[in-house]
Amino acid sequence: MKDKGLLIVISGPSGAGKGTVVSRVISANEKFKFSVSVTTRAPREGEVDGVNYYFKSMSEFEHMIHNKELLEYMDVYGNFYGTNKFFVEDMLNNGYDVVLEIDTKGAFAVKKIMPEAVMIFITPESFDVLSERLVGRATDSPEQLKRRLGESVSELKLAAKYDYIVVNDVLDTCVNQVSNIICSEHHRSKRCLDIIDNFSK
Ligand code: 5GP
Repeated sequence: MKDKGLLIVISGPSGAGKGTVVSRVISANEKFKFSVSVTTRAPREGEVDGVNYYFKSMSEFEHMIHNKELLEYMDVYGNFYGTNKFFVEDMLNNGYDVVLEIDTKGAFAVKKIMPEAVMIFITPESFDVLSERLVGRATDSPEQLKRRLGESVSELKLAAKYDYIVVNDVLDTCVNQVSNIICSEHHRSKRCLDIIDNFSK
């Protein structure tokens, strides 16, 4: 039987650059799969259905909840977001490491269901950099911006509950650190005991 893959949960405030880090980590290793979330939020310019998110209507989303197709789901900034349960289970069972990029509430919900999940928190180096990045993105109205900043501060307070905190200052460094964490997690003794067991056969 194939070894099960690892579930990697990545969170961090808006403006931490999680999306870029995650896509770089995923593209560097064919054993990593990104779990494309489902959302009721409207696509932003340049976002592609099935790549960034599966964009759904509220009634389609409710249908997925009803059919228990979501591992977790949350209302984030007034829109619903959820993790595709079947994709995650299927990929893990086929030996892939699955990366979720989800908010802190969703992350803790996943950790409860799957305690083996590896939790990584990505943060910018300072509050000033965080605000600059959010303003620079210019996709939000001033009200949305204010709310996102407030939410970001609340999310940062939860970083201590994660297994790892990584600063996204220099992108390449951050990508390497996240990849190294995943690699190290595979080498935890509890996940490698079969290697040792082989010696006693
Ligand atoms: P955005 O609208 O900027 O793409 O995402 C807003 C927030 O929703 C981010 O913190 C992102 O990590 C989170 N998010 C994206 N997908 C999911 C998901 O499937 N579940 C949960 N709980 N949060 C998600």
